[in-house]
Amino acid sequence: MTLEVSDLEKTQKYLNEVSESFCLAKWTQVTLDLNRGTTASCHHPVQHRIPTAEIKKSFHRLHNTEFKLAQRRLMLEGKRPAECSYCWRVEDSGPGAYSDRIIKSSYQWSRSMGEKILQDPINEEFAPKMVEVNLGANCNFKCSYCSEEVSSSWADEIEKFGGYPTLHQHGRSFNQSLALNAEEKEIFARAFDDWFKSLSSQLSTLRVTGGEPLLNESFWRLLTHMKQRENGLFDFSINSNLGVSEPVWLRFLDELDILLLKKSSKEITIYTSNEALGERAEYIRFGLKHNLWIKRIEELMDRYPSLNLVVMSTYNALCVKGFEGFLQEILRLKMRRPHKPLRLDISLLEFPFHQRIEVLTDDFQQDLATQLEFVRAEMSSTKLFDFIEFEKMKRVITVFQERDRGANFTHKKDLIAFLREHDRRRGTDAHKVFPEFSSWLR
Ligand code: SF4
Repeated sequence: MTLEVSDLEKTQKYLNEVSESFCLAKWTQVTLDLNRGTTASCHHPVQHRIPTAEIKKSFHRLHNTEFKLAQRRLMLEGKRPAECSYCWRVEDSGPGAYSDRIIKSSYQWSRSMGEKILQDPINEEFAPKMVEVNLGANCNFKCSYCSEEVSSSWADEIEKFGGYPTLHQHGRSFNQSLALNAEEKEIFARAFDDWFKSLSSQLSTLRVTGGEPLLNESFWRLLTHMKQRENGLFDFSINSNLGVSEPVWLRFLDELDILLLKKSSKEITIYTSNEALGERAEYIRFGLKHNLWIKRIEELMDRYPSLNLVVMSTYNALCVKGFEGFLQEILRLKMRRPHKPLRLDISLLEFPFHQRIEVLTDDFQQDLATQLEFVRAEMSSTKLFDFIEFEKMKRVITVFQERDRGANFTHKKDLIAFLREHDRRRGTDAHKVFPEFSSWLR
């Protein structure tokens, strides 16, 4: 569903009449990791552990934990939950910036739940409309902004070399004492199965993530289950890095053929991440083969005219130079299938701090302005970029302009420490790939 500025304005007014921190996504969305037993409302807050004792009492605790109920209460009282800092960062940058609090609450499946939420806001059995579930941590990539909890390749590296020598933790954040044992994993898996059965008639979207889902056995089991459905009632979304081996890829395409033929879900969307070209992209998202990534996007577009495709760009300090070239590549891909162009979803990197755009100096401002102008021009000429894509690019600039210029000294030092250590243990060359940071790295 494409949103217009009027949708955002109406939603903002509606939410703010309840409170200036009220967000429907806190009720309507859930992000779950069954291997760690953790949950969050949308994907921005850091996930918190669901106590096993709570899950034994009721499978609704997969979404309605005591902690989450407390965050909802804060919103109703007009207080800002600290875990939603992603949205406050955007809202504090200026009155014209639309945060995800507004955007996520504007989607019809979320907006339509407003009255029900307000009738019983602390309902401990509230059923979400959008479920995102992490099916396992197996992953062949080690993206710079990822961590050992989410990627097995990151975990292997941390096991071998330890954490990165940054002042603020990076790559050593996972508290092993909180890990689920085999029995607990079984309890969570069973609770999820039962809960999901109870949800499926009301669900709007099931989205699977990882790790890399295509490398996790539970993903293939889920596809087997999905294939048994005909004329499914909810949308099915898959996050993939599109970088798996050829046999795994071909197996995936075979499964997609069947899912689409049987209409096992209302719509299918493939989400994939990137924010740069060539060796810059391959540094930021270690494991990515950029040409292969492009080839597979084109293959999906050509083979499946009705498939939704979304490229998620996590806008960060390492992608600013060169992002205009990336936008041109996105435009080329949009033009390849203009009746259903792929979408670009730009979000601001939140963690680790040292890779946020706030560490950058004022001379990057011109790059950002040029990128925004590019999207604005294409929005009015080819119409292949829309208002939400433009808005998300605009808020990058707003946050950059309003940043606290004095607060980033230690984060800049951390970025340098991270790049040096990255080069040492992964055999990369930050000087060559990011010449804009050469003077910092000297
Ligand atoms: S991070 Fe933003 S979108 Fe997510 S629940 Fe919080 S306020 Fe809503």
